[in-house]
Amino acid sequence: MVIASVPEIEQFIAAQPVIDTHEHTFSEADRRQKPLDLLSTEMHHYVGSDLVSAGMTPDEQALMYDRSRDPADRWDVFLSYWKYARTTGYAKALHIACRDLFGVDDLMSAAPSLDGYRRVNEQLTASQQHEAWYRYILRERGNIVLAIPDVQSTQVDKTLFAPAIRFDSFVSVGSRAGVSALERQTAQTIYDLDDLVSALGVAFAKAKEEGMVTVKSGLAYRRILQYDNVPRAAAEQVFAQVVAGTRAQGGGMTQDGLTFTECKPLQDYMLHQVVRLCIEHEIPMQIHTGLHAGNGNVITNSNPTHLVNLFIQYPQARFDIFHAGYPYQSELATLAKNFQNVYVDLCWVHIISPYVARATLHEWLETIPHNKIFGFGGDYGPVELAYGHSVMARENIARVLSEKVEEGLYSEDQARIVGARLLHDNANEFFGLGQENLVQ
Ligand SMILES: [Zn+2]
Repeated sequence: MVIASVPEIEQFIAAQPVIDTHEHTFSEADRRQKPLDLLSTEMHHYVGSDLVSAGMTPDEQALMYDRSRDPADRWDVFLSYWKYARTTGYAKALHIACRDLFGVDDLMSAAPSLDGYRRVNEQLTASQQHEAWYRYILRERGNIVLAIPDVQSTQVDKTLFAPAIRFDSFVSVGSRAGVSALERQTAQTIYDLDDLVSALGVAFAKAKEEGMVTVKSGLAYRRILQYDNVPRAAAEQVFAQVVAGTRAQGGGMTQDGLTFTECKPLQDYMLHQVVRLCIEHEIPMQIHTGLHAGNGNVITNSNPTHLVNLFIQYPQARFDIFHAGYPYQSELATLAKNFQNVYVDLCWVHIISPYVARATLHEWLETIPHNKIFGFGGDYGPVELAYGHSVMARENIARVLSEKVEEGLYSEDQARIVGARLLHDNANEFFGLGQENLVQ
C-alpha cells in the first residue's frame, strides 16, 4: 500500500475545483442569528452520534448541549467520550476544520484544551459578522464551486448552490393531518389518489421552475427500500382510509394514522409516481442508501439492492445512489456495473471511513466506468465541516490515483482525467449544472 501520493497528482487534486453532490448547509441568515458553539449539535454534527455510540448517556448529552451550563463542565463531559471517539472519520473532519479554519490544532490529541474550545467559539462568533462567510469557506478555502444542498428549499444562493428537493411527504403521507399539510403546501384540494398525484405534479413542476436540479429521497431512514409495483386500486384503497382520517378498530373509530404495513402499497405507488415525474422532467433522483445518521436504525432496510426493480422498470430514469450504500458498497458496484441508469456517490463516505472510501474507489474504478462515479459530497450542516470533509476527500482521491499510477495502471495524464471527472465533470454533466468541464 502506497502511503504518500505522487506529488504531481496530489497537487493537481488539491487545486481542482469541486462540485459537491450533497450538503445540508444551514441557511446563512439563520446562522448569523443564533449563538454558535462547538459543542452544539449544529457545530459538531455527526460527532454527536459517535459520542452516544461510545457510551454518552442522555443526561450527559443534555449537559453537553446546554449553553446555560459552565463551559468547563460541558467540555469535561465531551472529553470523557471524545477520548474514544477522536479516532473516527467524523472526528478527523472536525479536527481539520478547527485546525485549518480556526488555528486550533489539538483536537485529536489525548487531552485537547478548554482554551482551544473557547478560541474556536470566539472565532465562530466573529464569523457571524463576516459578510460572505459561506462563500469564503466553500469557494476560497474549499474550492467548491457548486454544492447541491438537501435543505428542502429552492431559495438558496444560486451562485454557490443548486438545490435538491424531497417529495417524501407525498410518498409517506399516512394521516389526515399529513394530507392537510400537503393541501396547504400545494394550494390544491386533495380528495382522492388522483388529487394526491396531481398535487405532487404541481409541487414538482414548481420546484423545477425554481431551480431544483435533482430530487432527493431520504425514506430509507423510515422504511425498506423495496418499492413494489402495486396496482393502483390497492393504493387507492389505502389513501381513502388516510383521507377519511378514521378507521374501524374493534367497532370504534380512531384518529390515528395508519401503520407502515397498512400504508406500504400507497407509499410504493407514490414513489413510482415520483420516478415517473423525474423521467418526464428529465431530473435525476438521489436516493439515500446504507448507513443512517444518528443512532439506532435498521441497516438492512437501506441495502441498495432493494431498488433493483426500479432500475429495471425505469431505464429512462437516472439514479444517483448515495453513500456508496455503505456497508453494501460492493453490492452497489454490481448494480452500477449492470445498469446504465445507476450512478454511484461517495458523499458522506470519506468521513464514515477514509479507508473504506479509498478501498471502494479502487474497487469501483475497476468495476464501473468512471463517468458514473461521484467523488465527493460533504453531507454536513456546517460549511466548516464540509470544508474539513473536502480535504479528506481530496487526500483519498489523490492517494488512490497515485496508487494506480505507481502500479503502472494509469499514466499521470489518465489519473488527472479521472480525478477531474470524479470531483467535477461527472456531477456537472449529470445534474446539468452548466459549468465548463475541466476535461473534454
Ligand atoms: Zn445527507
